Amino acid sequence: MISTKPILVTGASGFIAIHTIAQLLEKGYQVRGTLRSLSKENETRASIAKLAQANNRLELLPADLNQDAGWREALKDVEYVLHIASPFPLDEPKDEDELIAPAVQGTLRVLRFAHAAHIKRVVQVSSNAAVSAGHASENRIFTEADWSIVENKIGAYSKSKTLAERAAWEWINSSENKNKMEMVAINPPFVLGPVPNQNYNTSSELIRTFMLRQVPGTARIKMAIVDVRDAASAIILGMETKEAAGKRFLVSAGELWTKEIADILHNEYSKRGYKIPTLQVPSFLVRLLARFDKKISLIVNTLDWDYQLSSAQAEKILKWTHRTPKEAVLSMAESLVEQKIL
Ligand code: NDP
Repeated sequence: MISTKPILVTGASGFIAIHTIAQLLEKGYQVRGTLRSLSKENETRASIAKLAQANNRLELLPADLNQDAGWREALKDVEYVLHIASPFPLDEPKDEDELIAPAVQGTLRVLRFAHAAHIKRVVQVSSNAAVSAGHASENRIFTEADWSIVENKIGAYSKSKTLAERAAWEWINSSENKNKMEMVAINPPFVLGPVPNQNYNTSSELIRTFMLRQVPGTARIKMAIVDVRDAASAIILGMETKEAAGKRFLVSAGELWTKEIADILHNEYSKRGYKIPTLQVPSFLVRLLARFDKKISLIVNTLDWDYQLSSAQAEKILKWTHRTPKEAVLSMAESLVEQKIL
């Protein structure tokens, strides 16, 4: 344990934050989580309680990324901040600023309030959406040296994550950072693994769509995957590892084509009555459909893109280990069944 003071976790109600808080509690830390509304306090506590015992070690306080109110109180007597909150909707917003403003201004707000509170280190949960988006013509291995190209059509979410992480590093390296507060960025790809509650969650949409056979087949798209439990452990290692300061870390367990994800589900669940769509729709047909369907048009640029994400830096510096992508897929599916979402 590197701190006996509360660890501040922003966006405590979220999929990744719930697992992160549970692991912090398991490790003996005190935790203070922020919620944009305390109306989610009871369900957040209940979700965390399924994974770890909090006793009196979990406080939940209100703070919204779009407002100053609450942040000073949330950061009182804290040394480390895990900034996880950021909007992650399934659909493209009408106005991209709905995502970009809370992501960018919210991150800067957290950094400024953290600096004023003399925080030692902020771990910023970024994404592979800030690393490889907009590079879909490049079949290669991506590392932390890469940045997404926001000028390409990458969607509002990827843009929000890229601009937020860039703004955060710029702020950390600026003269405003008088206390030399440290930052670490953790960049997970598509996060699967067990869902902790029945809340609608963007991360579980693909598995849910396949399990409910809401699509006739799979498009030839490759997904880099990490289990939520391993994303959470990476975030905590980003806080605990001295040498991590000033670095970003891709944390991917590996890649699967969506057809491989469907096959994994089919092999396990067809005997239980689920009819998983395993047919791979030819890419030319998906491109054709994209002309008539806005949702499909968003993925069309990534068709046939054969890329990899390197997690070598996380394995070396954070000593990060992870489950397989297959385990992440199956544990998410099983949790959706258990939570009666399917
Ligand atoms: P969730 O949607 O489950 O969690 C998002 C959290 O952010 C929620 O707690 C939400 O609060 C909070 N939030 C959103 N807007 C605001 C706001 N204006 N003020 C305060 N809190 C806000 O998503 P995940 O857990 O999957 O994602 C968490 C983080 O991980 C995000 O930063 C996301 O970009 C990143 N990430 C996720 C990946 C994934 O595949 N899941 C992959 C890579 C990165 P509320 O409950 O009130 O809506």
